[in-house]
Amino acid sequence: MKSFLSRFEMFLHGKGLRLTAQRAEVLRCIYRTHRHVTAEELFEMLRRKGDRSISRATVYRTLSLLEEGGFVDALSVGRDQGLRYEHTLGHEHHDHMVCQECGKILEFHSEAIEAAQDAVAAEHGFKVTSHRLNMFGHCADCQAAGKVPKDADESTDESSTSSHEHAG
Ligand SMILES: [Zn+2]
Ligand SMILES: [Zn+2]
Ligand SMILES: [Zn+2]
Repeated sequence: MKSFLSRFEMFLHGKGLRLTAQRAEVLRCIYRTHRHVTAEELFEMLRRKGDRSISRATVYRTLSLLEEGGFVDALSVGRDQGLRYEHTLGHEHHDHMVCQECGKILEFHSEAIEAAQDAVAAEHGFKVTSHRLNMFGHCADCQAAGKVPKDADESTDESSTSSHEHAG
């Protein structure tokens, strides 16, 4: 944690900013949680800890700085949920599946996908410094709960005897 703070301090210094107690607390908070949190959730977490000196605006601005410096990643989850943040340093690389129904975020790591990305980049002579892969859709729970329409191709409807035709 200390090294992350000093790295953040160096980053801020380069921008002519100081590592204030509030900025340090925002970093500590996001590095303590292993969830993907919205700025609002983070603000509430800080408030619950009894820190009344942190304003909502400070949380939002600090998150922007942390993202700019590569200390956190912002994940767009769609709907009206806005961005969800997670810390990056000391966290193994992973990609995401985002349920657009309940907002659940599943983390996964696939060597095959990582290797395929490297191969595609190499074909284009592209040097990758970082990447982000987000798959959007519906989680198993939401599908089981019937919250989302069944995919036409996976229809188990027995009355459907005609061959598969895609309407529209
Ligand atoms: Zn990846
Ligand atoms: Zn879901
Ligand atoms: Zn994640």
